[in-house]
Amino acid sequence: MSSREERIETLKKELTNITTYNRPTYCAECGGVMVFKGVGEYQCENCGFLDYDDYGKVRNYIEKHMGANAAEASKATGVSQKAIREMLKEARLEIAPNSTFFLRCEICGAAIRWGRFCSKCEVAHHRDLEEMARKSRHHDDTFGYSTERRKGEDGSKRFTREQ
Ligand SMILES: [Zn+2]
Ligand SMILES: [Zn+2]
Repeated sequence: MSSREERIETLKKELTNITTYNRPTYCAECGGVMVFKGVGEYQCENCGFLDYDDYGKVRNYIEKHMGANAAEASKATGVSQKAIREMLKEARLEIAPNSTFFLRCEICGAAIRWGRFCSKCEVAHHRDLEEMARKSRHHDDTFGYSTERRKGEDGSKRFTREQ
């Protein structure tokens, strides 16, 4: 293999890594090279055949089926719900406010329009973290300065006054 061929191979690998949405490389009709046109759309440079990567497929499906949810879009396009979720997270998919295109909260299964959790579960998650923070702070208090101060207040004033 010549060094030029090796360079091309490396470049191909790099491009494959960048493109994570199953970009069509060759025309399904004539085998020509597919040229990127934008928003997930590709066109054959030989015959003009249009094809789409996963992002383009999902986007087209949503545009035609405004009431569809992620599971339906996944079934119709063959793109995994995980990939659709990623697109939503990256905000590559724009969802109209009146659209019912939704995902399921990973905790309670409620309908959500983006991300991984519904707002309730997200708040609950933060409350848990706050409760844990509170407990560990209380823990420090018990063995730290405040215990001595409390002892002093309960017992003799002398303890705190001497401080
Ligand atoms: Zn073609
Ligand atoms: Zn939830």
